[in-house]
Amino acid sequence: MSPGSEQAPRGGIDLGGTKIQTVVVDAKNEVLGESRRPTPEKGGPKDVAGEMAAALREAAEQAGLGTTDLAGVGVGSPGDADEKTGVVSGARNLPGWKGAFPLGDDLSEELGVPVRIGNDVDGAVQGEFELGAGKPYDTILGIWWGTGVGGGLILDGKPWIGRGAAGEVGHIVVQRGGARCTCGRKGCMEAYAGRLAMEIKAREEVKGGAKTDLFKIMEERGRDRLTSGVWERALKHDDDLATKLIDRALKALGAGIASAVNLIDPEAVIIGGGLGVRFGDEYVSRIAAQMYPHLFVDDRPPQMHVAALGDLGGAIGAALLVDERVPTPTA
Ligand SMILES: [Zn+2]
Repeated sequence: MSPGSEQAPRGGIDLGGTKIQTVVVDAKNEVLGESRRPTPEKGGPKDVAGEMAAALREAAEQAGLGTTDLAGVGVGSPGDADEKTGVVSGARNLPGWKGAFPLGDDLSEELGVPVRIGNDVDGAVQGEFELGAGKPYDTILGIWWGTGVGGGLILDGKPWIGRGAAGEVGHIVVQRGGARCTCGRKGCMEAYAGRLAMEIKAREEVKGGAKTDLFKIMEERGRDRLTSGVWERALKHDDDLATKLIDRALKALGAGIASAVNLIDPEAVIIGGGLGVRFGDEYVSRIAAQMYPHLFVDDRPPQMHVAALGDLGGAIGAALLVDERVPTPTA
């Protein structure tokens, strides 16, 4: 590449509780290659990092590149992701990841390029703000409805991470002393609406004698967990338990998101995540309907959108972590 020519492509990795999505993008954030692998359910951080590297190599190959051709790789990670050190700790939705693991250093060694680590939802929300549904606005609240319920905030054009942990809307309490959350506390929005929490609840209900096709559909699809696709299929067939649990989730989302809106007064709420993107506009409307009664200022609710970058949004947002202002070494 000659001096002054456009910037080298960048990699992005969205590390989720269910899947690892990778992309390679050009200077205009157009996707040149992408790959997806399931997140390992067993093992530990080293195994997860190995799958991440493999998936990124596949995306690079698809783009006709090797990983060392990239300017760098950005990673959106769950748990407590330290942007300065690249260490990720307490990623409780990942296997064997209760302690701290130097994910940035490990991947950088594996891939031969600089790696920057950020929070998964913050990255995805930044992506929507710069390139997707959040473009027309200055202040947005992102709600990432997937394995858990994550949140991200852009205030007056800038990401707000507080002391590192802002935006944890999933743990807004919607029912004091309510359902047990995967975080160990009770009554969190995520305890009703997170994919993992809904699956735990569905298994309990089946043990208690409830009838449902959820687990039959799961097996037919060769899955070992209730993915967003499994929920969608069951809902299309008016499965009683699936309908009941999703209605319960929507009520919790409505109350929790309204509480966050009452605090922040954002111009728009953007719903992303595995369930949010799959369920799309119809469910965003249903969430809005559950939210409106709880809004303190109810005559001008925020705009509601589905994340426009879809399934690749998290990975594209992660690629934005690679500093575009640093010129790439030229020959
Ligand atoms: Zn919680």
